[in-house]
Amino acid sequence: MNIILFGPPGAGKGTQAKKMSDHFGIPQLSTGNIFRENIKKETPLGKKVKSILDAGRLVPDETVVDLVTDELEKNDYKNGVILDGFPRTVNQAEALEVYLSEKGETIDYFITLDVPEEELVERILSRGEGRSDDTAEKVKTRLKIYRDETEPVLNYYKEKGAVKEINGVGSIEEIFNRIKNAVS
Ligand code: ADP
Repeated sequence: MNIILFGPPGAGKGTQAKKMSDHFGIPQLSTGNIFRENIKKETPLGKKVKSILDAGRLVPDETVVDLVTDELEKNDYKNGVILDGFPRTVNQAEALEVYLSEKGETIDYFITLDVPEEELVERILSRGEGRSDDTAEKVKTRLKIYRDETEPVLNYYKEKGAVKEINGVGSIEEIFNRIKNAVS
């Protein structure tokens, strides 16, 4: 089963992806986490993307697509994947579709978490994870990029008809229950 977990920064994708991964027994692939780990370890990829993440901008499509398609070749993902933070542009979505269709696979569920913008800003600024992109100014940039470049991905999948819109306001468990209901 292949699932995309979609939504703006601060919507709770990472939290829910982890719970879904435990519940469904399918690994989570979080592009943001992979980039942050590479930055911490100062790998060549980390050095390449550090200033981009710091600024709250998007890593170039080619870099992200190569990363994700290489990762998905691993045996861990033989039963599927929960994608968190990818695809984030229509180009990425199209590349993913090509990759999956060559394997005779598809996206089974596209789950989008709806959270009002005021709450997103509040959550990010109070989550205290020490992320360099969690400042008021960077959050503004990230939300603008989300609206301009990422939200069109939602329409792309709406046209394909696999979208489940989930209310992303409530407790972690409430939201997780909504997701479970949408997937079963
Ligand atoms: P959030 O959803 O809170 O913005 P993420 O951890 O998903 O956090 O992403 C953090 C950063 O990693 C993004 O702002 C961007 O710089 C980079 N990134 C993650 N995924 C992608 C992607 N699919 N395409 C381009 N950049 C990405």
